[in-house]
Amino acid sequence: MDVLVTLFYILFSICVVYPPTEFVSAGFTIAQLFESFLGSENMNFIGYHMKRTTITALIHSALPLGYIFCLLCAGERNPWLPAAAAATAIIPLLMCYRLLCWWENDQVKHPVVKALIQYVTPGSDWRVVAANLNIEFRNVDKVSIQLNATSRFVATETWLIKLTQYKLNVVKQEECTLVATATDSHNLTPTGEDEVQYINIEAIPTRDDIERFTFRISTTALRDLQPRLLQPVRVPEHISLMPTLIERFVNVFKHYVDQNPVYLVDQELELCIGCMQYPADVKLNRRCHPPPAHLEGGPPQCQQCNCRVLWCCACMGRWWAARASGPPAGWLSGRATCPVCRATFCLLDVCPARLASS
Ligand SMILES: [Zn+2]
Ligand SMILES: [Zn+2]
Ligand SMILES: [Zn+2]
Repeated sequence: MDVLVTLFYILFSICVVYPPTEFVSAGFTIAQLFESFLGSENMNFIGYHMKRTTITALIHSALPLGYIFCLLCAGERNPWLPAAAAATAIIPLLMCYRLLCWWENDQVKHPVVKALIQYVTPGSDWRVVAANLNIEFRNVDKVSIQLNATSRFVATETWLIKLTQYKLNVVKQEECTLVATATDSHNLTPTGEDEVQYINIEAIPTRDDIERFTFRISTTALRDLQPRLLQPVRVPEHISLMPTLIERFVNVFKHYVDQNPVYLVDQELELCIGCMQYPADVKLNRRCHPPPAHLEGGPPQCQQCNCRVLWCCACMGRWWAARASGPPAGWLSGRATCPVCRATFCLLDVCPARLASS
């Protein structure tokens, strides 16, 4: 019986400390269970995490006592149990004392406040920094990346924040360099189409009194993060970032488009209406032949698109990939529709457009 209780309790403790995805989606995490006590993270970001770290530390410290309690409830009668109960009860009591220290004296010993204190200007208070962080966190253009079940990375306009179970790392964007330190790739499918690359990034503050921290995100998450950063993440030469599936597809797409005959235009090519960065350089011009009569009834046939040259090849490739279905190996043989007039086209119909030299 007590073996069963022990196994169950170990499993329970692991789920409390590192909640699996099923627990997170079912709402069985400390943050979700104590939602009403913690308040809204969006309204009071710093206050929320001060309470969350406190309650997390308290609950984790009470886990050993909970085990003895479970054994007692299961009918276990061992002469050592009362002594064990007393010993394990000391842990949450000591933790309570520590938490009291965190919260007294203007909370200056609280790990969340400690992270902010470095940014307090003379004559001001850590609450000023906290208020600034709260306002920025409320902004919709922050980027928030879940690192694992218990930690998160947030980039706001001026701050980079790493949230973990018991603490918070804060650094000002302008006073910090982000450097990629290592990468690792994982294959989700045997064909390697769904390869995911993770990158370890170290945040190195320019000031010595601020703690460094590292975080690990996927290359896809890094692409979402980049536009929010003041300075791009430095990638040393020995580290190479893997292109995403879409980027690799766009490269192959371009390669095939370049083999199609050139479509000559007599007007200057305008900027692509998709990215507004590169000149539009593809024209959808039907070249494929209709299928023989006995094969009719298959996929929709291509139609002539009468739109001007509006898109660059990369944007057209991304448009194609976004609408493709099935395994990526079959994307090129499919069909897409013109983003403007919805005419169906195939890869043979995408012609590189060039200005006719007069
Ligand atoms: Zn474009
Ligand atoms: Zn069109
Ligand atoms: Zn076609």
